[in-house]
Amino acid sequence: MKVLIIGVNGFIGSHISQRIMEDTDWEVFGMDLRDDKLGHVLGKPRFHFVEGDIAINKEWIEYHIKKCDVVLPLVAIATPKTYIEDPLAVFQLDFEENLKIIRQCVQYRKRVIFPSTSEVYGMCTDACFDEDTSNFVLGPIKKQRWIYSCSKQLLDRVIWAYGEQGALDFTLIRPFNWIGPRLDSLETAKEGSSRVVTQFIAALVYKEPIVLVDGGAQSRSFTYIDDGINALMRIIRNEGGKASGQIFNLGNPANNCTIKDLAEKLLKLFQNHPDHRNDEGFSKIIIQDAKSFYGESYQDIYTRVPSIEKAKKLLAWEPRVGLDDALQRTLNAFLEEL
Ligand code: UDP
Repeated sequence: MKVLIIGVNGFIGSHISQRIMEDTDWEVFGMDLRDDKLGHVLGKPRFHFVEGDIAINKEWIEYHIKKCDVVLPLVAIATPKTYIEDPLAVFQLDFEENLKIIRQCVQYRKRVIFPSTSEVYGMCTDACFDEDTSNFVLGPIKKQRWIYSCSKQLLDRVIWAYGEQGALDFTLIRPFNWIGPRLDSLETAKEGSSRVVTQFIAALVYKEPIVLVDGGAQSRSFTYIDDGINALMRIIRNEGGKASGQIFNLGNPANNCTIKDLAEKLLKLFQNHPDHRNDEGFSKIIIQDAKSFYGESYQDIYTRVPSIEKAKKLLAWEPRVGLDDALQRTLNAFLEEL
């Protein structure tokens, strides 16, 4: 099998490439702006990398869509701070550029596995979100946080419509706060634009305060990357065509945790880490209001728990890594990298 991964140097791209190299005889053709997360696969004969930009290197992309069996378009802005600061960039990249890829998958009749997002459910009040029945609840237009959710939702609908017409073999995946090594960089955390786990690890490393937005009572279901990749591999393999035409929540409901508890857990793990046990002082946990942390146009999501019944049934998959273990492994990887 030939797998095209656009955005191969991202968090998911780098992990799925590694797993494909380790567990299969498939070839990966990958494009990204950089290759700094690809140390473990660069140079392998079945891994072909080109440095490029989805908005520029269109011929390379079209040629490889034709050449490959399955396409994973993973390029997207997926950090809430950017939804507020540059909403048009989110729309252009996450929707417009990816729509072109989807249309080429239709044109050349290629299977596509597209990353939707748990964010599409927005402020849905269901106790756990179901792929096929839950409503999407978004805030008003001036709350620009929702442009990401909305861009992804519209592309989900476009993909679904092509599928219904019999013009596209697709699977939509909805990752729920995947965490692990190479999540985002500690550098972007300095500007507050990494996702929460990286943000907290950076605070611990640089002895800055850990900031709980609005007190941290909001919760997320953190999912370890290896569990997510296990599901994604089953989807790429698509035995019996069971993943075709489906949307899958890929998350770990057992790891649902408030942001406050997350901060306390990470602080404790850091304090017990052999390299830091004897540090002089540690980060304080402080509270900041969302308006001053993110800006006026932010709105938070208070609960986000996936139903994973469909993935259990159709993919015979379930997540295995508990939250403490997931946080320990993530923290260790960041500290080793430093
Ligand atoms: N958050 C926080 N402190 C931070 C960064 C994020 O309290 O330094 C909160 C944020 O308000 C949200 C949750 O953590 O409720 C998860 O944020 P993340 O950026 O990881 O993305 P999201 O899950 O909202 O897409």
